[in-house]
Amino acid sequence: MSKYDIVIGLEVHVQARTNSKMFCSCPNKFGQEPNTMVCPVCMGFPGVMPYPNREAVMKTVMAGLMCGCEIAKFSKFDRKSYFYPDMPKNYQITQYDLPLCGRGGVHIFGKGFSGNDLPDKVIGITRIHLEEDVGKLNHFSGYSGIDYNRAGVPLMEIVSEPDMCSADEAYAYLTALKQIMQYADISDCDMEKGQMRCDVNISLKLAGAKEFGTKIEIKNLNSFRSAHRSIEHEIVRQAEILDNGGRLMQETRGWTDERGETYLLRSKENAHDYRYFPEPDLLPMTFTDSEIGKIKNTLPELPEQKRARFVATLGLTEYDAQVLTQDKTLSDYFDEGAKQAKSPKMLANWIITELLRELNDRNIPFEKNPVPVGHLVELVELVSAGTITGKSAKEVFSELFSGGKTPKQIVAEKGLLQISDDSAIDKFVVLSIEQNPAQVKQYKEGKTTVIQFFVGQVMKLSKGKANPQIVNKLLKEKLDQM
Ligand code: ADP
Ligand code: ZN
Ligand code: MG
Repeated sequence: MSKYDIVIGLEVHVQARTNSKMFCSCPNKFGQEPNTMVCPVCMGFPGVMPYPNREAVMKTVMAGLMCGCEIAKFSKFDRKSYFYPDMPKNYQITQYDLPLCGRGGVHIFGKGFSGNDLPDKVIGITRIHLEEDVGKLNHFSGYSGIDYNRAGVPLMEIVSEPDMCSADEAYAYLTALKQIMQYADISDCDMEKGQMRCDVNISLKLAGAKEFGTKIEIKNLNSFRSAHRSIEHEIVRQAEILDNGGRLMQETRGWTDERGETYLLRSKENAHDYRYFPEPDLLPMTFTDSEIGKIKNTLPELPEQKRARFVATLGLTEYDAQVLTQDKTLSDYFDEGAKQAKSPKMLANWIITELLRELNDRNIPFEKNPVPVGHLVELVELVSAGTITGKSAKEVFSELFSGGKTPKQIVAEKGLLQISDDSAIDKFVVLSIEQNPAQVKQYKEGKTTVIQFFVGQVMKLSKGKANPQIVNKLLKEKLDQM
């Protein structure tokens, strides 16, 4: 039992992938020359009129439905005033008291980041609202630059309840959210491109205490790993202050990856007064039950539904299913292959132990996987039908990466057909016995495990093509007769 309960709530920003920005027709495109994707609307020129992006609104509703949220029949946009160079209008269009999506929840389970089992639980979602992203400051030596290409990109803010109690749970929640966004094609959630960012709120209270402690917010974590690290660090820091009889003040902190520490950004006294008021240039958004129902019908399977289906109907273990659903492209790949494979479980094993390892070794992201799933299915069938040995299969597998050829073509070209013919194998068996009198003597003296040595010799002589079961059987017969 530890002395403190840990309380964590996350505010996660996710950019919706749309053709154009939230309130203008500029492209929503990353990685362009600075300030080339801008217009008078997203640059905040006087007199311009914003026009809401239907695709962004739809994607936010879908995000809400995927997270089990209530969709508001009536919601509106508000102005949040603040003065900072990243915001050319000096206010951000966001949603304050009437967000698009209300209460929901996201399920976490399975193995946590640190490898231990997570409690099976639902992390409550307070709300999801839609707003516009701000520009990006770039700091150079002696001066700074501002790129407004990102200003006005549709941005969802997903606010969680303070339901998480460890860095692992927060990590799992972030992973679950990212999966949902990718499955429903709402966002790619590429954190390196800033498409998903997260603020951590964390407080400690004496174990069992009713009232929450003072919350500290850590801003702008740009990887799940830094979110995890910052929580672990902050737990220790806050516990030390409390242990020494100190008090925590509500404050906003930053995180440095290099030092692995949080640092003070601003205290509550310096908190902003945002002076929210309804955005006068935009109409409220309304939805009827039947409109919401229609969107619901277009939703894809949730990652957790997919996991359950893989276990229930395809004979996978929970672990296999968790690995294969972690990424949408990967889960589709397996799903497609499972339709063709005689044994989906064997296909899953090959994907997990061979394909993913090989991709990882070669530093290839799954999207760039060069092996068509049909080829992998064919390879698995060749092994299970006994056409090639497991050893040859590995050889074929690495050839598959060079692309083009099917496993059957590779087997034919390399002459890898498994030798299951007794008389052919017998020749290798006899040869291996003749060449190794010392080991034969050991066998005769009762060291029967030396048979593995002979199996190895026969496999070498047959270039890995001899059927191992037959090799074993023949070796035993021969050696026992001697
Ligand atoms: P604020 O008004 O400061 O933005 P909110 O009540 O909107 O605070 O909460 C922001 C986030 O902080 C939410 O994700 C919420 O779950 C979390 N949170 C609120 N209180 C606490 C607390 N005492 N400890 C940890 N997290 C908290
Ligand atoms: Zn624009
Ligand atoms: Mg808040």
